[in-house]
Amino acid sequence: MRRSQLFLPTLKENPAEAQIVSHRLMLRAGMVRQSAAGIYSWLPAGYRVLQKIAQIVREEQDATGAQEVLMPTIQSADMWRKSGRYDDYGKEMLRINDRHGRDMLFGPTAEEVITDIVANEINSYRDLPKNLYNIQWKFRDEVRPRFGVMRGREFLMKDNYSFDLDYDSARHSYNKMFIAYLRTYARMGLKAIPMAADTGPIGGDLSHEFIILAETGESEVYCDKAMLDLDAPGEEVDFDSDLQPLVDRWASIYAATDEKHDAVNCPVAADDLVTARGIEVGHIFYFGTKYSTPLGAVVQGPDGNQITLEMGSYGIGVSRLVGAIIEASHDDDGIIWPESVAPWTIGLINLKVGDEECDAVCEALYGEAKRAGVDMLYDDRDERAGGKFADMDLIGLPWQVAVGPRGLKDGMVELKNRADGERSTLSIDDAKAWIAGKSA
Ligand code: ATP
Ligand code: MG
Repeated sequence: MRRSQLFLPTLKENPAEAQIVSHRLMLRAGMVRQSAAGIYSWLPAGYRVLQKIAQIVREEQDATGAQEVLMPTIQSADMWRKSGRYDDYGKEMLRINDRHGRDMLFGPTAEEVITDIVANEINSYRDLPKNLYNIQWKFRDEVRPRFGVMRGREFLMKDNYSFDLDYDSARHSYNKMFIAYLRTYARMGLKAIPMAADTGPIGGDLSHEFIILAETGESEVYCDKAMLDLDAPGEEVDFDSDLQPLVDRWASIYAATDEKHDAVNCPVAADDLVTARGIEVGHIFYFGTKYSTPLGAVVQGPDGNQITLEMGSYGIGVSRLVGAIIEASHDDDGIIWPESVAPWTIGLINLKVGDEECDAVCEALYGEAKRAGVDMLYDDRDERAGGKFADMDLIGLPWQVAVGPRGLKDGMVELKNRADGERSTLSIDDAKAWIAGKSA
């Protein structure tokens, strides 16, 4: 993408309405604009990050055998009356009437919709287990939308729903999600801490929140530092094998929010206890037959007996993650994207637009990136070098390649790593080879 053509409205000044760094940087880096309280439009750079995060979530879900669907944003109140949640959900639910006066709502979550589908379409034990997910916009009329996309009213969530014949199988479905979540966050450069949690309005009796540590987190978190040393399970995980030992290893390490943390009876020695602020980026629940009973998700078992399905649901805050990653990865100059979610992998800076050699070398490097399928943002604007460097630091692309007349005298270009600031010089041929090596 050429910067001269890109819609990237960056801001030099800090916007007054933003209280936390991720919100400030998302506005300054031209990623989002607010259109109403807690409701955002995603501009090209922001939308690319959102899609990359969604894609990682998707790949890790698919690896577990979960299947992607797409459910509607607008739901009928009828199913929510059946589950008993229509009245319980309270003011966070945005209620709508259609032209016939029917009660509708903008979905805050989708247990009712998916359970209704399964109740209608799955009749035999042979068709189970099933795990269905979607990545879809949700609406919750939060009392205090704040912190930009971190606590919006409209937000993008990955939510899935598992259907099993018995507790053991449901527990296995839960364990798969537990492991998939650890892997998902690790691929985004995040260390996520699973924490036994309350189930809230979703209900049920087994639940974990996934928390990442960042100064601006909404809750205080206490955890054994052993948790920080554990590496997330990688490609080697066999989701069909017994995952309980792996889950137990993580779940047994002490972690609690301030409401649950007991300073007096804390099982961890003071020296080993980490205290930090946390951001909730995911939440998983097992809740048995809470929805399958009222919505009639019942199948015929092998002996003709009726089996009410065991269910769980699992959420990841996809749009919240955009802010959360910035909270965890930035410096005074701007965002520092991990490569896996960066809007572009490389920023190419032409330090003297109009200089024949600079232009030619930039075009060659840009062409190489295109050929190799590497995401490159080429700053081809005729502007001061200092401003272009500052802009590139703000946007936070992991790599910067700067091409200027001084370096080119010796046939060299400069490469900078955004995270550690380390610079090196490369010949043009080496730069081309390096760019090609960045292709996934
Ligand atoms: P919170 O405690 O932060 O209000 P929640 O427990 O109500 O979240 P869940 O129902 O567990 O949220 O939703 C699953 C995930 O969706 C959360 O872990 C979070 O990452 C994300 N999420 C929830 N509410 C919002 C919101 N208002 N804005 C952005 N993301 C959200
Ligand atoms: Mg939650």
